[in-house]
Amino acid sequence: MDLATAPPAPLTRHHLHVAGDWVDPSSGDTIPVENPATGETIGEVPAGAPADVDRAVAAARAAFPGWAATAPAERAAHLDRLHAALAARADDIARTVASELGAPLKLATRVQAGLPLIVLRGMVELAARPAAEQVVGNSVVVREPVGVVGAITPWNYPLHQVVAKLAPALAAGCTVVLKPSELTPLTAYLLFDAVTEAGLPPGVVNLVPGTGPVVGEALAAHPDVDLVSFTGSTATGRRIAHLAADRIARVALELGGKSANVILADADLPTAVKVGVGNVLVNSGQTCTAWTRMLVHRDRYDEALELAATAVAGYRLGDPFDPATRLGPLVSAAQADRVRGHVDRAIADGARLVAGGPAAPLPPRGHFVAPTVLADVHPDSALAQEEVFGPVLAVIPFTDTDEAVAIANNSRYGLAGAVWSADEDAALAVARRLRTGQVDVNGGAFNPLAPFGGYRQSGLGRELGTYGVEEFTEVKAIQR
Ligand code: NAD
Repeated sequence: MDLATAPPAPLTRHHLHVAGDWVDPSSGDTIPVENPATGETIGEVPAGAPADVDRAVAAARAAFPGWAATAPAERAAHLDRLHAALAARADDIARTVASELGAPLKLATRVQAGLPLIVLRGMVELAARPAAEQVVGNSVVVREPVGVVGAITPWNYPLHQVVAKLAPALAAGCTVVLKPSELTPLTAYLLFDAVTEAGLPPGVVNLVPGTGPVVGEALAAHPDVDLVSFTGSTATGRRIAHLAADRIARVALELGGKSANVILADADLPTAVKVGVGNVLVNSGQTCTAWTRMLVHRDRYDEALELAATAVAGYRLGDPFDPATRLGPLVSAAQADRVRGHVDRAIADGARLVAGGPAAPLPPRGHFVAPTVLADVHPDSALAQEEVFGPVLAVIPFTDTDEAVAIANNSRYGLAGAVWSADEDAALAVARRLRTGQVDVNGGAFNPLAPFGGYRQSGLGRELGTYGVEEFTEVKAIQR
């Protein structure tokens, strides 16, 4: 059997990870895991229950004083061993993500397995630094770990989203209970295989798989969880914030987006459109930062639409394990239906189909949606306002920079964005006017040490880098 197509193993897991051990769940209920490229069930995991959350939180609470008191250099050494154990599993991780999410193997290898290793490497260095102290008049201001963290993560980047919480939480001295997405739980199990191999102290990290309404709510509402760190939809983030508010617990929320890619008249259009289309289509459009609104100056609008259609035609849909595949399926039948519904509604609302759409050919099975470009999308229409989370690009014309900025900021979200111009100062000036947590100018690369998070309904707080570590701390002022 070709290594690239060999199924990752194992695909069925029976245990939770609590207090440093693989332990039996409190019930025999299970959750099936599907391969979205075929629709077949490929494995299963336990469906955790509130009693399992209680056990895991108690383990994390018991481990907290010891981990919080561990010297930074020692915590960094633990993270370094975790990095090595994870790196040794990179192929298995990539093939597992390809199997349970449907991400093409190349993307699964480079981004889904590769990016968390980069983030974790950065955190090893940050963990080694003692928490910064500041003198303010007669006060010494110190940072201390916030305590037990409940981490709830989505399916679209099933390892990255976990590492982006777990690594800074551990670096700050917190202990963690993780509930991964029930759609992609197998990748999290590989992380906990690495945790076991790395020999992290018992209870410092714990795994309880299960559904959102059962395990997720039990974790968010748990009286002994000090901070709930959540990535997922805005609707679920709102629910989690309500649950945490009952006991005034802290929340960190990384939510949805509807980001704008502003292409000014003097931009290198072929590059801006090609990179913009790639940004929307990567991971089948299931990326919270996707620049799903392409705003193009009217003078270049028709040219941009042609370039977008050509770019989309280069994306071949198919088996994630086929090296020729650039676009996999969506994660589930429900997600694919939702995305198709958005496209149908946009056409009914007056958008013009430029590429893809309901009649485009698709692989015979699996939850595929054709990459789709819609032009003349009204800035107030549902397609321009709602997160689609699929391979769908809305193109909107503008006449001048003020109008471009107004359209870009006409959103309840504010996660990411892009600006393109031959004049970098002009692009930077626009970047400063966008009400979002991240902006890339002329294709500026993702920086895993830069703060990541959103304005408005895209979330609360920041992940990654020093900002990400500080998210997991409390601030104390000591006067003398
Ligand atoms: P989701 O909100 O349905 O689920 C996310 C997680 O929350 C899952 O683990 C789920 O089981 C859990 N959950 C669901 N209901 C819950 C409840 N009532 N209480 C507690 N937990 C609950 O989101 P999803 O469909 O997995 O992910 C897609 C969404 O995530 C998109 O909207 C996307 O924009 C967003 N997202 C945001 C970021 C970011 O960093 N801003 C990153 C990735 C995804």
